[in-house]
Amino acid sequence: MINRVLIAGSGQGGFQAAASLRQEGFEGEIVLLGDEPGLPYQRPPLSKTYLKEGNGDRLLFRNADFFEKNAIRLEDGRRLAAIDRMDRGIVLDDGRRLAYDHLILALGARNRRLPLPGIDLANVLNLRTLADADIIRAHLAASSSLVVIGGGFIGLEIAATARAIGLHVTVLEATARLMSRVVSQPISDYFLAAHRGSGVDIRLNALAARIVDDGAGRVCEVELAGGERIAADLVLVSAGVLPNAEIAEAAGLYVHDGIRVNDLLATEDAAISAIGDCASFPFGHDGIQTRLESVQNAVDQAKCVARRLVGHAEPYAKVPWFWSDQAGDKLQMAGLTAGADHHVVRGSHAEGRLSVLCFRREELVGVETVNVGGDHMAARRLLGWEEPLTLERAQSAAFDLAALMKAGA
Ligand SMILES: Cc1cc2nc3c(=O)[nH]c(=O)nc-3n(C[C@H](O)[C@H](O)[C@H](O)COP(=O)(O)OP(=O)(O)OC[C@H]3O[C@@H](n4cnc5c(N)ncnc54)[C@H](O)[C@@H]3O)c2cc1C
Repeated sequence: MINRVLIAGSGQGGFQAAASLRQEGFEGEIVLLGDEPGLPYQRPPLSKTYLKEGNGDRLLFRNADFFEKNAIRLEDGRRLAAIDRMDRGIVLDDGRRLAYDHLILALGARNRRLPLPGIDLANVLNLRTLADADIIRAHLAASSSLVVIGGGFIGLEIAATARAIGLHVTVLEATARLMSRVVSQPISDYFLAAHRGSGVDIRLNALAARIVDDGAGRVCEVELAGGERIAADLVLVSAGVLPNAEIAEAAGLYVHDGIRVNDLLATEDAAISAIGDCASFPFGHDGIQTRLESVQNAVDQAKCVARRLVGHAEPYAKVPWFWSDQAGDKLQMAGLTAGADHHVVRGSHAEGRLSVLCFRREELVGVETVNVGGDHMAARRLLGWEEPLTLERAQSAAFDLAALMKAGA
């Protein structure tokens, strides 16, 4: 019998788990514990509108009334320090112990720290939290040149925002193309053209070797591996994240690039689940352990666990999707496209729209689109079908996703 659910981490997944438990009719006690101060909020706008507008209220999932009405006890500004599995309890950073019948770990991820000389200088920043965003906003207002280390989603979003407010922006990407870990070459090419078109200086195969001190503890330049120096009065490091899994590991749970869970999102301890950025779950037909960093993943996994805790256990099997707004273009992705061996492409940067169907071993594994919301929505439904879409069928249908869906429905 579950009387008390403790949720550690009050971000996207943690908040959703609490809200979904109530929506599903859970009547027991819910404690939502988070180490950030204040009400839970969403992160995506932090690298987009929030950097320009700075309106914190618009980030909140819900106001304080919601927590009160739904009897969700929010313990903000408090850190989970340890899990005592034998006693089914947790220890907080203030020494208090809280008991649980079920514990949901929604601890998210933290930014990877690059071992670069100069990384600790005052105006070398990174973005994960609202507090980080406020610091960046203040620095952007007082800076004229920004170097972004890392050409992934978040680095590029910040670069675009900084450029739009008039800064001179350089992006250093260590690999040969933008967002190389997560999108296909045509999408990388599209965004290379888009960012360069808006005046961002994008350097590919550019390895930052050192952040140069101006003598007063502030950055003045970034030195590349080849010796070239780029002037900067602000540096933003955006080099990926690491899952917050150490506390689970210390409690004896299996951790390998995230807290390992089964298809029900339960750890090997039936009283502990893990969701969102911190969890590694079996994905797709092959059941390959996968860790995703997206709003959709955190929200849908939270809903899945909430339903299980009220007696409706179902394996987690949602189609992953993601979006990113950069330089006025909307990138949307459905499915997982890493490892695709064939692409079917429609559109171009010149046309201001692009759709890329990604196939692996002749089966559709994902669709990436820029400014084509219809294709994205169609792809989400296509990827949810039991029968995978084959390359032959996609080509014979002249690449019309909507028509394909009708034909297959
Ligand atoms: C700037 C930015 C932009 C993004 N843009 C997009 C986007 O456009 N689209 C998209 O799909 N996704 C985007 N994401 C990713 C998305 O926000 C995350 O995937 C999502 O928030 C994951 O939810 P989560 O609950 O797993 O983790 P989080 O939302 O990160 O929540 C985890 C919470 O746990 C807290 N915590 C960690 N350790 C402890 C502890 N020991 N005790 C207590 N609390 C702890 C953390 O401080 C945090 O508050 C973006 C992320 C960032 C940072």
